[in-house]
Amino acid sequence: KPVKHVIGQTKIFAIINQKGGVGKSTTAVNLAAALGEQGKQVLLIDLDPQGNATSGLGINKAEISHCIYDVLLNDVQIEDIIVPDITEGLDLAPATINLAGAEVELVSEMARENRLRDTVGRLRGKYDYILIDCPPSLGLLTVNALVAADKLIIPIQCEFYALEGVTKLLDSMKRVKSRLNPSLDIYGILLTMYDGRTTLAKQVASEVRNFFGKQVFETVIPRTVKLSEAPSYGIPITQYDPAGKGAQSYSDLAKEVVKRG
Ligand code: ADP
Repeated sequence: KPVKHVIGQTKIFAIINQKGGVGKSTTAVNLAAALGEQGKQVLLIDLDPQGNATSGLGINKAEISHCIYDVLLNDVQIEDIIVPDITEGLDLAPATINLAGAEVELVSEMARENRLRDTVGRLRGKYDYILIDCPPSLGLLTVNALVAADKLIIPIQCEFYALEGVTKLLDSMKRVKSRLNPSLDIYGILLTMYDGRTTLAKQVASEVRNFFGKQVFETVIPRTVKLSEAPSYGIPITQYDPAGKGAQSYSDLAKEVVKRG
């Protein structure tokens, strides 16, 4: 296997939206895999106690002895939990249900907001991209992601109430930006689960584009059943259905993410 070298700076993106079911894990897994296939070195950090990105990449959570929880709270080194070469160019820092305890346990810790940044900072220069799949809340784990990230990728589902809660997320971003992470900003807004046959999806897409303007990625992720099936096979969409429109859209997104930098 040829050794790839990381040229330039590591970019750390949090995939974030405190609403559940908007396509965060699907985007984390498939964007990470697509970036890897396009020759980038990528680390995906699963910061969601549900561990959907972990199982979606074929890792059996029951067989993992240490996960990102142990890095945040037990002084385990992140290098010691990373599962390398999940797919081409892609490493994973997995999550297990243990991570659910972190939300409470972090409260009494010193420098509780900086735990993830301190550990991920050491990996700068080793990867082109580090993606963080965030939990569906604005608790301490998400704050850790906001402090550790350079920029945010915000998936928005093309359904009713798409923008509900976004103001709250932007408030959290601004608070962390002013106190702990001055260069934090939105990298891109991603429209997900777009069904072009419905008027609603079109309305939501144009509402989101009106609100966020150029911050919205041109690439739109279509609603397709293949994207919801791939996780149960433990492989990204580019392997499960390489010729389909789900794979195409995440490959396009990866190109757009690279270009935007
Ligand atoms: P989140 O991480 O925000 O909770 P998920 O990525 O887990 O959201 O997606 C929620 C559900 O929707 C999952 O069952 C997932 O398989 C499905 N899903 C996500 N994106 C798509 C899509 N583009 N088309 C069809 N189903 C999708």
